[in-house]
Amino acid sequence: MFGKEEDPVCGMAVKKKEAAATSEHMGKTYYFCSQTCKEKFDENPMNYMKMGKKEGGSCH
Ligand SMILES: [Zn+2]
Repeated sequence: MFGKEEDPVCGMAVKKKEAAATSEHMGKTYYFCSQTCKEKFDENPMNYMKMGKKEGGSCH
C-alpha cells in the first residue's frame, strides 16, 4: 500500500507522513506509531525483521 507502512513492533498501519518515528535498518526505512515502538525496534531490530512477507512456498 502506498503511503502506508506497517509498524514492525506492534503491527499497526502507519502513514509515512504521520509516523511518530522512523528508523533505518539494512537499507530499509521502518515507520513507527510511537517513539516507544522505535526504541524497542532499535534495541533489537532482528526481533522484528521479517524475511519477506511470504511464509513458506518460496523458491529462494
Ligand atoms: Zn507501534
